[in-house]
Amino acid sequence: MQEQYPFDVDAIRADFPILDRKVGGDVTTPGEGPNDTQDLVYLDNAATSQTPDQVVDTIADYYRSYNSNVHRGIHQVSQEASVAYEEAHDCVAEFIGAEGREEIVFTKNTTEAENLVAYAWGLNELGPEDSVVLTEMEHHSSLVTWQQIGKRTGADVRYIEVQEDGTLDMDHAAEVIDETTEMVSVVHVSNALGTINPVRELADMAHEEDAYVFVDGAQSVPTRPVDVDDLGADFLAFSGHKMCGPTGIGALYGREEILDAMEPYLYGGEMIRRVTYEDSTWEDLPWKFEAGTPSIAQGVAFAEAIDYLDDIGMENVRAHEDLLAEYAYEQLSDLGGIEIYGPSGDERGGLVAFNVEGVHAHDLSSILNDYGIAIRAGDHCTQPLHDKLGAAASARASFYIYNTVEEVDALVDAVAEAKELFA
Ligand code: PLP
Repeated sequence: MQEQYPFDVDAIRADFPILDRKVGGDVTTPGEGPNDTQDLVYLDNAATSQTPDQVVDTIADYYRSYNSNVHRGIHQVSQEASVAYEEAHDCVAEFIGAEGREEIVFTKNTTEAENLVAYAWGLNELGPEDSVVLTEMEHHSSLVTWQQIGKRTGADVRYIEVQEDGTLDMDHAAEVIDETTEMVSVVHVSNALGTINPVRELADMAHEEDAYVFVDGAQSVPTRPVDVDDLGADFLAFSGHKMCGPTGIGALYGREEILDAMEPYLYGGEMIRRVTYEDSTWEDLPWKFEAGTPSIAQGVAFAEAIDYLDDIGMENVRAHEDLLAEYAYEQLSDLGGIEIYGPSGDERGGLVAFNVEGVHAHDLSSILNDYGIAIRAGDHCTQPLHDKLGAAASARASFYIYNTVEEVDALVDAVAEAKELFA
């Protein structure tokens, strides 16, 4: 089977010891379930990916060798930490085609990056005469955030409609993006539908109206080559924990001139240049937006995760995702009695959300758990979209670099068993 993959999946799997563990469906002390006999089949990567040894070692090495606060010390260890932390910004910048570290703000995750722009830019720039355009498939991290900014500023929040086939209605986009629009915020790859949105086309429409474009890259940056210039993105957000990195670290890309003009989001240490009792001035980019002691180990490990993905090659990562998603789509469709959400198998990102007729997604997930198969069941932080789909919840299998065709087979077999059980 190995030859069908764009890279050596067995070698990759060897970097992720967690993939060798057994599970048994019991929730106990981690790793100590009494019935831990099933191989773990981890298909919950859209929520959080696993972390290779190289990244875990980077974190351990940081704490063992050069743990210190950044930007504050003249001493050697602090300088070593500062250099590693700053260079991590360069690494992220290069990965997405940004000009340099000035355009990369480290955040806790995608959600914080969305809030940063909404608060620092939105609250100051928007008013009742303006509009913000989202899509009906936005993650709550964007939808709830802009909704609240809309309430506070009076700006109209509009949604580009999702069509039956899970793609955006681009005629509707052309209607709702107009001269009042100041921001178009769009998810690149939907975490619920798997839809790959035409971001460039939307960006061109937005720029025509002098609006900015915020791209939610939480599902796209980990799984395919992403270049901010190709996308026409003014902002791009993504999370380290979905791309082999640790939790607690993510990035906001912003075009330098826009970030430069924005007020800080959080105030305090690290982000100031000069403070008097009366007033303060701000540090250069990106530090102006990184108040307080940052997540240093996580930042350095984020860069290691990016190096890891770079070594595989993002085109190869995409090809692997395509292969597994297409195969899963086909096999699940063939079972019959299954509703799969979003576009067809060859036009989607590496995830498949579905419902089995007569089986609640939570029950399905629970049965799969007995087989050692980890999927997600719920609304995937897209409640309004699920309302529109007429589904309270869906089951979602999502794939990454270490997943195999055999694991998709295990998923499909277990779904077939569940179907039988509830028939
Ligand atoms: N946007 C999308 C499309 C996502 O899938 C997610 C996470 O599932 C997020 C945003 C939020 O990411 P985080 O929880 O890391 O902030």
